[in-house]
Amino acid sequence: MPLQPNALPVLIDAVAEALRRQARAISELDEAIGDGDHLLNLQRGVAALQARAGDWTAQTWPDALRNIGMTLMSTVGGASGSLFGTLFIAMAKHWPEAPDGLAGFADAFGVGVEAVKLRGKSDVGQKTLLDVLVPVAAALDNLAIGAADFAAVRIAVMAAASAGLESTRDLIAGKGRAATMGERARGFLDPGALSSQVMIGAILEALDDL
Ligand code: ADP
Ligand code: MG
Repeated sequence: MPLQPNALPVLIDAVAEALRRQARAISELDEAIGDGDHLLNLQRGVAALQARAGDWTAQTWPDALRNIGMTLMSTVGGASGSLFGTLFIAMAKHWPEAPDGLAGFADAFGVGVEAVKLRGKSDVGQKTLLDVLVPVAAALDNLAIGAADFAAVRIAVMAAASAGLESTRDLIAGKGRAATMGERARGFLDPGALSSQVMIGAILEALDDL
C-alpha cells in the first residue's frame, strides 16, 4: 500500500518538532544575513498545516498537496512562503495518475523544484533553498532509476541535502535579502537552505518510523 495522506499529521508534526530543535541555528543565520523572520514565518505556516491536516487525511495526494501549498502561500509570508507554496502546488499538478513508487514522486518533485526556480527567478549557486532542493531532486531521479529501497533513498537524499546546505556557506548570495550584503554573507549557511534540509530530514526520519 503506497503512502497515503493519512500520514500527513505525523509527518507535519515531525517537521514542527525538527524546526523547534533547530530554531536557534535557523534564527541566528537569518538574523546574520536576512531579516530574522524566517523561522517564525515557517513555524506560522507549519502550525497552520497542523491545524488543518486532519481535514486532508482522506483526500487524494493532489488535493492534499494543493491544500498544503495554498496554506503555506497564505500563512508563511516572506519570500520563502511563496516558494514553498509553489513547490507543493506544482507537485499537486504533476502528481502521477497511478502510484508508481519513487519514479512518479521524483518526477513530481522535480517539476515542483523547476517551478520554484521560475517563481524565485533563481537557480542553484545563489545561496538559497534551491541549493538544497535541486540536489535532492537530482538524487531522487538517480535513485528512481536504480529501484533503491527506502534505507538507500534516505541516506542518499540526506547526503544530497546536507552537501547542498554546506555548499551555501562559501557562496555570496545572488537572490534574497543576503544578496545586498555581498562578501559579508560569505561564511554563513543560507537560512532557507538550512530549514529545507531540516524539514527534509524530519520527513525522511518520520517515514522510516511509519
Ligand atoms: P524574506 O527574505 O522575504 O524575509 P524568509 O525570511 O521567509 O523571506 O526566507 C528567506 C529565505 O528564502 C532565504 O534564506 C532563501 O533561502 C530563500 N529565498 C529568498 N529569495 C529567494 C529567491 N529569489 N529564490 C530562491 N530562494 C529565495
Ligand atoms: Mg526573512
